[in-house]
Amino acid sequence: MIEFLNLRDITESFGGEIEKAVERVVKSGWYLLGDENKAFEQEFAQYIGTEHCIGVGNGLEALTLIFRAYIELGKLHPGDEVIVPANTYIASILAVTECGLTPVLVEPDPETLEIDPTKIEQAVGPRTRAVMTVHLYGRCAHTDSISELCKRYGLLLIEDNAQAHGCRFGDRRTGSLGDAAGHSFYPGKNLGALGDAGAVTTSDPDLARMVRTLANYGSERKYVFERRGLNSRLDEIQAAVLRVKLPRLDADNARRAAIAALYRSGIDNPLVRMPSETEPGANVYHVFPVLSPRRDELQKHLADRGIQTLIHYPIAPHSQECYRGRGLLKMPDLLPVTERIHREELSLPMSPVLTDEEAARVAAAINEFE
Ligand SMILES: *Cc1c(COP(=O)(O)O)cnc(C)c1O
Repeated sequence: MIEFLNLRDITESFGGEIEKAVERVVKSGWYLLGDENKAFEQEFAQYIGTEHCIGVGNGLEALTLIFRAYIELGKLHPGDEVIVPANTYIASILAVTECGLTPVLVEPDPETLEIDPTKIEQAVGPRTRAVMTVHLYGRCAHTDSISELCKRYGLLLIEDNAQAHGCRFGDRRTGSLGDAAGHSFYPGKNLGALGDAGAVTTSDPDLARMVRTLANYGSERKYVFERRGLNSRLDEIQAAVLRVKLPRLDADNARRAAIAALYRSGIDNPLVRMPSETEPGANVYHVFPVLSPRRDELQKHLADRGIQTLIHYPIAPHSQECYRGRGLLKMPDLLPVTERIHREELSLPMSPVLTDEEAARVAAAINEFE
């Protein structure tokens, strides 16, 4: 059996260091907003290349706090529009609607599966105030043209970096390319905690301060509440775990890229298409997606051979019950590229503990599909 992702093996591959870090926190008697948070925030900001990092409860709250903070700072107002890729994970869009903002869905490029930069401009209207790029599947969605467009129209650029820790755009990393970025450390992400965790990175001191205030009940001074905030904190235990895993992230991502290269060279089947290649480093392969017009049969074919796969994602956000027909989203009449991806996408096993032999077996099984 080749599992899609074996988290137990990943934790074990740190050879007891994670258990030691957890024990250190347990014995310290300090469990929230302490030294582990401070140290992780510094280390992660330095890694990503921003002035500030704020540890928060999870990835959805990281994104939500960014929008809330911009509203509190008067840079966004309820009803403003935020351009988002139509094929993202629902959390990107939930963060926007949670703050009373309107997501404007833009189609992805069928070759990259990332937001199509040439379709963003036609989605800009009089109420557009921000663009959110999502580095989906671990692949850099950023382009110089997106930055230029944001400058030209005075739009905020926010990154959803939940799937792309360590991904590069030239000599910079995703999460440092716009005004602010939300990160998730959900256990299955490239940098994953042992539970929920997230962070905001930014080089804007006012935004950083507002996010920190809102994440702490809207309070900067104990028992004084300037804002109606929420409680979104990164546990000390999770911060300590992340500090063990961060130094190995680049090596883990290199291992993912090696597996992706094996898939690329090994898979040869006219019924299975792979997205285009990127520059080295511009994809950290959170997921290795393939596309097939007979996706469900392919998934069963692989399952019959002991290969576990997942679908990211079976239902597009605009077709989900929570949004359908509710007038909360703005979009073109048709989203054919998005709908096709949701019909055809299949994610192959991918993790730093997958072996070359396992990757070769997956490729061979795909080539047998007819
Ligand atoms: C995982 C994920 C999130 C949400 O992160 P959580 O920590 O699960 O809240 C947001 N956006 C994308 C693209 C994700 O993959």
